[in-house]
Amino acid sequence: MHMSETLLNDPAPPPLTVLGVNVVPFASYDHAVDCVAESIRQGRKSFWVAINPQKVYRARHDPAVMEVLRQADVGICDGIGVSLGSMLLNRRGIQRVTGCDLFFALLAAAQRRSWRVFLLGASPEANAQAAQRLGERFPQLKIAGRRDGYFGNDEEVIEQINRVRPELLFVAMGSPRQEHWIARHRDRIDARFFLGVGGSLDVASGLSRRAPTLFRR
Ligand code: UDP
Repeated sequence: MHMSETLLNDPAPPPLTVLGVNVVPFASYDHAVDCVAESIRQGRKSFWVAINPQKVYRARHDPAVMEVLRQADVGICDGIGVSLGSMLLNRRGIQRVTGCDLFFALLAAAQRRSWRVFLLGASPEANAQAAQRLGERFPQLKIAGRRDGYFGNDEEVIEQINRVRPELLFVAMGSPRQEHWIARHRDRIDARFFLGVGGSLDVASGLSRRAPTLFRR
């Protein structure tokens, strides 16, 4: 970490730990979005990861996954499983801030604050359709670039991102592939905020539906 960074206040509150994985107890989506805004204002680079029980399980069985989660700056509580886990282990529940809903909340903020976004991942059709639908839903949103998640050449993709220098980079290539990709390349990518969003571009494209509310709860 650079000296100048250590002197700045960390915008995110301290994390709780659920089976060795850090999860930040944000009070609300607005709170999480405000922390992203503050982190961007401070000129930091930050990598956030959505923590759900599958990821905690994988991390406990695969040291490479645990290492990637440790490299993330912020873990968010991606659903009730982690919230309950924290309730049992820490005697303190954590408000849900799911990756998919935070993605949409950040797009709304990006539209208000003129942040440029880059959408990386999903099939070529889903990626294109997601960009189109999101453009309709958020007419002032600046989608500075996009690219499907089935590419062979990382360098080419990194160059494409660095040409537009987005504030927000969303990577929808499934877990833990997307987190490994971000961790491996973030030092060389000229973006401020990185988040793996799994199937969220499929959801945004309308080509795949979210799980029914009952399941998500
Ligand atoms: N995907 C991709 N590149 C790959 C493999 C997967 O872009 O090499 C995309 C896939 O098209 C889908 C998303 O990653 O849009 C994975 O979604 P899934 O719901 O499986 O991820 P999860 O949310 O379970 O991590």
